[in-house]
Amino acid sequence: MPDYQTHEHDVLVIGAGGAGLRAAIEASAAGAKVGMICKSLLGKAHTVMAEGGIAAALANVDERDNWKVHFADTMRGGQYLNNWRMAELHAKEAPDRVRELEAWGAVFDRTEDGKILQRNFGGHRYPRLAHVGDRTGLEMIRTLQDHGVHQGIDVHMEHTVVTLLKDGDRISGALAYDRDRGRFKVFKAKAVVLATGGVGRAYRITSNSWEYTGDGHALAYAAGAELIDMEFLQFHPTGMVWPPSVQGILVTEGVRGEGGILLNKEGKRFMFGDIPDNYKAQTAKDPEEGWRYCQGDKNANRPPELLTRDHVARCIVREIKEGRGSPHGGVFLDISWIKEKIKDSVAHIQRKLPSMYHQFKQLADIDITQEPMEVGPTTHYVMGGIRVDADTQMSGVPGLFACGECAAGINGANRLGGNSLSDLLVLGKRAGEFAAQYAKEHPAGQVSEEQITVATQVALAPFERGATTGGSAEGPYQIQHDLQNLMQDNVGIVRREDEMQRALDGLAGLWERAGRVAVYGHREYNPGWHTALDLVNLLTVSEAITRSALERTESRGAHFRDDYPDKDAAFGKVNIVTNRQPDGTMQLRREPIPEMPDYLKQIIEEMK
Ligand SMILES: Cc1cc2nc3c(=O)[nH]c(=O)nc-3n(C[C@H](O)[C@H](O)[C@H](O)COP(=O)(O)OP(=O)(O)OC[C@H]3O[C@@H](n4cnc5c(N)ncnc54)[C@H](O)[C@@H]3O)c2cc1C
Repeated sequence: MPDYQTHEHDVLVIGAGGAGLRAAIEASAAGAKVGMICKSLLGKAHTVMAEGGIAAALANVDERDNWKVHFADTMRGGQYLNNWRMAELHAKEAPDRVRELEAWGAVFDRTEDGKILQRNFGGHRYPRLAHVGDRTGLEMIRTLQDHGVHQGIDVHMEHTVVTLLKDGDRISGALAYDRDRGRFKVFKAKAVVLATGGVGRAYRITSNSWEYTGDGHALAYAAGAELIDMEFLQFHPTGMVWPPSVQGILVTEGVRGEGGILLNKEGKRFMFGDIPDNYKAQTAKDPEEGWRYCQGDKNANRPPELLTRDHVARCIVREIKEGRGSPHGGVFLDISWIKEKIKDSVAHIQRKLPSMYHQFKQLADIDITQEPMEVGPTTHYVMGGIRVDADTQMSGVPGLFACGECAAGINGANRLGGNSLSDLLVLGKRAGEFAAQYAKEHPAGQVSEEQITVATQVALAPFERGATTGGSAEGPYQIQHDLQNLMQDNVGIVRREDEMQRALDGLAGLWERAGRVAVYGHREYNPGWHTALDLVNLLTVSEAITRSALERTESRGAHFRDDYPDKDAAFGKVNIVTNRQPDGTMQLRREPIPEMPDYLKQIIEEMK
């Protein structure tokens, strides 16, 4: 029998980013005994990296903004595949969640009359992103954490959950190990909230941190929950491309919101040449109008650099492919040009974009106040994820909830920048509230000794193989590396059937190698072991992305198929749903999106 410690909670939250913290605060406020587990230290979750801001229709900078415009923008950005109920709740509740954050101590940038300042971002009709320079995530995490620690939440840092435990159909807890000592712990819980973030580490070029190995997606899938929309992976248009050691690190959309322009090697502002029909009425007709928009002129339309991320990323790829890219395989992003317009542009840029200024100065020896940056697309955010109920955030597994980036629905085919941080607050709160309610209404489930024994044996198997093969078996790093290359090269921004088929074949080989992976040494401080365990999650999400992308034979939002370059109206009415069959195989089906109620249809019509 394995040796382990046991902890008991009403609600167990897995993940301490914005979504997990907000869920834990709400569950605790409802009287539940709450435990929270995270892979890194508290305060170091991926949310801390968020830069540009939190989208909420506060209407502090433009009084024409309201939840209806935000709802319509989100649905248009998601190409109407969004879960409309989630988009509605999100748009309606985001302003209250931001004001609440302020009441808990978040120090936002201010308008001249002392309100929370809001900035422009791609796809948002009005300036909508509440922000703190370009370090909004840090302020959000700091505030939630400060508030949360006074709620009596038990935090288990540097622990990784490897299996969800079930009693029959319902959830009953989770098995984790502590990353430093390698000891197992069983967490019994009446309700579990997954808030584990995204999947970007399945790709070679990504803005995502080491934590983004798709754990929550894979844990939920293995426990019987469904995944949806996995073909929709967001490639942010602007990541650093040079030097190689920084490739993929994010360059915030805030740069374009402050007036940054995209140029090819010929110095042409290429975005003006490709404006989608459904955005023509909302896009500036010339650079002058675009600049006025960035300066807050309410009569001006947004510059084309602030079109949705899927579109901007594809335009950049086209410039590069057609030989008009920058020397290191990107394009140019220039904010220094604003010296033509603003007297003290150096101080202005340093004040508005402090992190970007230091990032380029320190990592690339580029002074962005004087010269352009080189940028290119980077794997950034997964719109797909665990399928949950819009109001409660409960998955198909009773007692298992999900929120934040690991959950799906709100973004449809493409997420608007800033909508993630507001999603974490709005739907994170809801997940905590309804998980606490579930825990109140249901007694604890049984935790079976057999499940724990099997799960610990599986987790320790790489050591057994290391010991029995005398050092000849393959370690995890090459497998992870090969997976990242396979996905980057075959299931990237522009997709084709033959390449994705190649990816599926490659994945089969990688599954096999992962099944034989060995680790050496012992359980304490062993990153090789952690990586070996990550492989199953990375392979699961990669397979789901590839199969879903093959299934959607059209181009829409973030999913672009070279062999099916147009939209297909039939696909505009379905989500692709992925689930695990009893024999372990992955099954996909197309499921119709429920009809939108008339009052929401009318809003969309009015905002066209
Ligand atoms: C550079 C960058 C800038 C961004 N800027 C913005 C922005 O300005 N506005 C915006 O809206 N969005 C932005 N985003 C996106 C946004 O930051 C993320 O989508 C969001 O922070 C995800 O939050 P989360 O709470 O879902 O997950 P995270 O903050 O990633 O937290 C996940 C948590 O789960 C834990 N975890 C994962 N797996 C396990 C496991 N197996 N066991 C235990 N714990 C586990 C992790 O340790 C972590 O604590 C940005 C993203 C990046 C990369």
